[in-house]
Amino acid sequence: MKTGTKFIHAGTEPDPSTGAIMTPIYQTSTYVQEAPGQNKGYEYARSQNPTRTALEAAYAAIENGKFGLAFSSGVAATDAVIKLLSPGDEVICSNDLYGGSYRLFSKIFEKFGIKFHYINMQDADGIRQYINASTKLIWIETPTNPLMNICDIEAIAAIAKEGNILLCVDNTFASPYLQNPLDLGADIVMHSATKYLGGHSDVIQGALMMNSQELRDQLYFIQKSCGAVPGPMDCFLVLRGIKTLHLRMQRHCENGRAIAEYLRSHPKVGKVWWCGFEDHPGYAIAKKQMRDFGGMMSFEMKDNSIDEAKRVLSSTKLFALAESLGGVESLINHPASMTHASIPREERLKNGLSDSLIRLSVGVEDAEDLIEDLAKAIG
Ligand SMILES: *Cc1c(COP(=O)(O)O)cnc(C)c1O
Repeated sequence: MKTGTKFIHAGTEPDPSTGAIMTPIYQTSTYVQEAPGQNKGYEYARSQNPTRTALEAAYAAIENGKFGLAFSSGVAATDAVIKLLSPGDEVICSNDLYGGSYRLFSKIFEKFGIKFHYINMQDADGIRQYINASTKLIWIETPTNPLMNICDIEAIAAIAKEGNILLCVDNTFASPYLQNPLDLGADIVMHSATKYLGGHSDVIQGALMMNSQELRDQLYFIQKSCGAVPGPMDCFLVLRGIKTLHLRMQRHCENGRAIAEYLRSHPKVGKVWWCGFEDHPGYAIAKKQMRDFGGMMSFEMKDNSIDEAKRVLSSTKLFALAESLGGVESLINHPASMTHASIPREERLKNGLSDSLIRLSVGVEDAEDLIEDLAKAIG
């Protein structure tokens, strides 16, 4: 089945009691049992909910996985993956992670005795020197947030397999339309469904997809025990969002290219980070593992001052100044003070994330209007 058809039909069957074409929002906390211990597969809504079941089938299908699990947020999905580990275990992850993942790893899990190595993942072979008998998980993002670095999923998956180490890919930035890490050898895919999957900036949710029944059962057990489940209304919203993912992504990619090229040609703009430029250091790998290059990018003004960056950040009208990404509306963000403020400044600078970096999530408006908005703000 082709991508668009899959996104529209994934996981949804007409409702068995009424024929409703959209899965209803089963707003219930419990289910009446026929006899003690005898039920229709639904006992209590922390464990199961039919709207969530439909979404989880869709999650599996859109990432070409066997199983999907829906969580109350992207961070909750990440939390469940780390809870597979035990004190003394080690994780290797990118040094330019999503700020919330860094905070969860360094401020919560380190104190439970799990060790994290934050390294440059663009050099896959460089990972080997950090692997030892305690290494249990490799955690990557590609493209990374906000510097759009690319790492080679297939190469890293091969290294993980050699050492019997799990590989989890945070695929939020690419979305399943652009990239499918399970097909490239990853064990788990994680999404902040808050972003492209939901797509309309109206829901917080997370997802995990995998092929192993054992991993699925372990992660489901963690979820049921710790309680990070999404409500049925939120599941409905993401189910609806997925149906137009391919249409939205096509426009995000088109607009992304138009705006990246516009910024690059602007005399007042300095460096532009977008993985669709042929001279981007990760271009060849991006071309190999992604179907297109998306609408996420970052840039600096040529006059590389914080004041100049702040002036641009406060001057756009269509690009709203806000955290988050992947919605239909365009957003502009200042990673140093917003999405990545939880990373110590020294760490940020060491990894190339300057105080004057501006990140764009290019939406699906008309590109001409977006360019005009940026032109006025840049001046
Ligand atoms: C937003 C985001 C997350 C966290 O997801 P929430 O839904 O906000 O909890 C994780 N990774 C990336 C790349 C993100 O952009």
